[in-house]
Amino acid sequence: MDRTGYANPGDAELTCKAAGDNVELVKDRLQKMMPECGFGELGTCCVMCYMGPCRIDPFGQGPRTGVCGATPDVIVARNFLRSATGGASSHAGHARELAILLLDIAEGRAPGYKIREEGKLLSLAGKLGVQVDGRPVDAVAADVARKAFEDFGRQDGEPMNWIRARASRIEYEKWEKLGLIVSNPHNEIETAMHRTSMGNDADPLNLWVATLRMGMVDNFAGLMLATDLSDVIFGIPTPKVVTANYSVLKEGEVNIACHGHNPILASKVAEWADRLEGEAKAAGAGRVNVVGICCIGNELVMRYGIPYAGHEAQTELFLVTGAIDAMVVDIQCIMPSLPAIAKCYKTRFITTVPFVRHPEAIHVDFRPEVADEKAQEIVRHAIAAYKERKAAGIRPRIPDVSSKLLTGISVESLVSVLSAVDAKDPLKPVIDAIASGDILGAVGMVGCPNPKLRDGAMSEKMAEGLLRNNVLVVTTGCVNHILAQGGFLTSEATEKYAGPRLKKVLTAIGHAAGLGAPLPPVLHMGSCVDNSRIYDLLAALAGKLGVEISQLPVAGSAPEFITEKAISIGSFFLAAGILVHLAPAPRVFGSPFAVSLLTEKLPGLNGGKVLVAATPEGAVSGILAHIREKRQALGLP
Ligand code: SF4
Ligand code: SF4
Repeated sequence: MDRTGYANPGDAELTCKAAGDNVELVKDRLQKMMPECGFGELGTCCVMCYMGPCRIDPFGQGPRTGVCGATPDVIVARNFLRSATGGASSHAGHARELAILLLDIAEGRAPGYKIREEGKLLSLAGKLGVQVDGRPVDAVAADVARKAFEDFGRQDGEPMNWIRARASRIEYEKWEKLGLIVSNPHNEIETAMHRTSMGNDADPLNLWVATLRMGMVDNFAGLMLATDLSDVIFGIPTPKVVTANYSVLKEGEVNIACHGHNPILASKVAEWADRLEGEAKAAGAGRVNVVGICCIGNELVMRYGIPYAGHEAQTELFLVTGAIDAMVVDIQCIMPSLPAIAKCYKTRFITTVPFVRHPEAIHVDFRPEVADEKAQEIVRHAIAAYKERKAAGIRPRIPDVSSKLLTGISVESLVSVLSAVDAKDPLKPVIDAIASGDILGAVGMVGCPNPKLRDGAMSEKMAEGLLRNNVLVVTTGCVNHILAQGGFLTSEATEKYAGPRLKKVLTAIGHAAGLGAPLPPVLHMGSCVDNSRIYDLLAALAGKLGVEISQLPVAGSAPEFITEKAISIGSFFLAAGILVHLAPAPRVFGSPFAVSLLTEKLPGLNGGKVLVAATPEGAVSGILAHIREKRQALGLP
C-alpha cells in the first residue's frame, strides 16, 4: 500500500478489525481477482449472442473478428454504448421517480411531502412554457410533472421539453447541428439496446454518435431533471459547515446509515429519526443519529447538514465499526456484500425498492403514499436493533477521525455568495479572475472511489496539484467525501494548497461574504445527479463571455470512477465539448477507431476529448496543458 499523507487512519484501523472479525472486504476480493481479464480491459470481449463469447486480442495472432464478423471497433463501440445506456437508465429512473412524486404531491397522494421551493418551481414552469399567472402552485406543479412525463412518452420526434427549456441557446444550436438533440429518453435507451444486439449497427461512428446522444439523455432526462425536481421538493442547498468521517457515528445513540441516491426515502428517515427520539430514549439511547453514505450523503448534507459519513468504498468499513444499528438503502452503488457483513454485527440491513433486493435483507416496501408509516417502521427497526445489539454485547469501535467541510454550493447559493462582492453582476468577479489568470481554470472532479486507485490517493493528489496551479476545483459524488476527509473543503485548505493567485481571489470572496476567512478551494456542488449544477454554472459563465462551453479553460475528471453512471456523465460532458479525464482507463483501447475518435477527431469536431491518465501527475499535467491551450485560444494570459 502506498502510505501517503492522505491515508485515512480510520480505514486502516477498521481494515485490521475486519481481518480480526473474519470479514472479507472489497479490497480482499479485488486482490483475488487479479490479474483482471485483458480482453475485458480493452473492451474487446463480446457476449451479445450465443455464438460467442468472442474475444479479440488486437495485438496478437488470434481471430481478428467475432464469430459474426464484428470487428474490435464495433465490439468496443457497442460495449461502451451499453455502459452509457446503463448509466443513463439509472439517472433517468432516479429522475422519473421524482416527477411521479411531484405529481403525487400536487394531486394530494403524497401527504408526507410538500413543495419547498415555489420560486424554483415557478421559474422552471416558465422555462417549460407552463402557464403560471393566477394559478395555484399545485396546478403548476402538476403541469411541470406532466411536462416530464411528456418527454418520457413522446413519439413525435420533437426535442425533449427539458432540453428546450434548460439548454443554453448557443449549446442547443451546436447540438442540433451535430444531431445530438434527443426526443424521448426511453426510446433512446430502447434503440441503444436494439442497435447493439447481434446483427444490427456495425458502423463504429454511428455507434459513438449514439453514445453522445446517450450522454444527452443522461444529462437532460437524468441529472438535470433530478436536480431541478429535488430542489423544488426538498429545497435548494445553502452553504453550511458540517462534520464528516467515521466520528459522525455516535456510541450510545441509535445509528442509522442511509446509503443510496434518492432523497425521497432518506429525507423521511431523517425526519422520523427526530420525531421518534422519545422511543430511542426509552430504549436507553441518547437519540437517533442519521448519517449519509455515498451520494445520499451528498443529498442530505447539501440540504439539511446531516452528518457526512463516507464514500462508497467505505460502506463495508462503516458496518465493521459495529456501531450501525440499521443501514437503509434505496438504489445504486449498494455492494451485494453488505448484508452478510451487517449480519456479523447484528445490524439490520433494509432494502426499500422493489428492484433492489437481497435475500439476506429485511425489505420494507417504501412508497411515497405511505412514506410516514414506512419511515417510522424503518426507524423502529433501528431502535429495536440497538436494544438487541446492546444485549448481545456488541461493542462499537468508532475511529476517532473527524473532518469539517463547507457544503451546500448550488448555483443559486454561489451567486448569492458572489453578490457580496458585486451585487449587480455576481459572476463578474469570477470572470475577471479567469480573464486575469488569477483563476487559471476550473475542474469538476466527480464520481467514485475506486479501490484500484484509492491507496494511491489519486483524487487527493490531483486536487492538490490543480490547486497549487491556481485551478479551482468543484466536486460532486463520492470524490467529495474523499476530499472532505482530506480537509480540502475548508478555509485552511486555501492557505495550505491554493496557489498564490487563487488564494488571493478566494480570500477576497470569503471576507466579502462574511466568512471571516477564505472561501475553500474545493466547492461541493452535490451528488452525482448534481453534475447538472456544474453544467448550469459553465453555461452561465460561457453565456456571459459570449462563447461556447467548449471554449472555456475548464475540464472534467472522474479520477477513480467505478460505475456506468460515470460513463454516461462523461459522455454528456464530451457532447458539451469538454475535456474528460478518466481513470482507470475506459475500455476502448482495443479499438484504434475509438482511440483516434476520442483523442483526435472529436476535439476538432466539438472540442470534446478524453484524457486517460492513471497517475495524479499525468492527469494534472494533461489538464493544465488543456487549460493553457483554451486560454491561449481566447487570447487570455
Ligand atoms: S455478437 Fe458477434 S462478436 Fe458478439 S458474441 Fe455474438 S458472434 Fe461474438
Ligand atoms: S460517486 Fe460513484 S460510487 Fe459514489 S454514489 Fe456516485 S456512482 Fe456511486
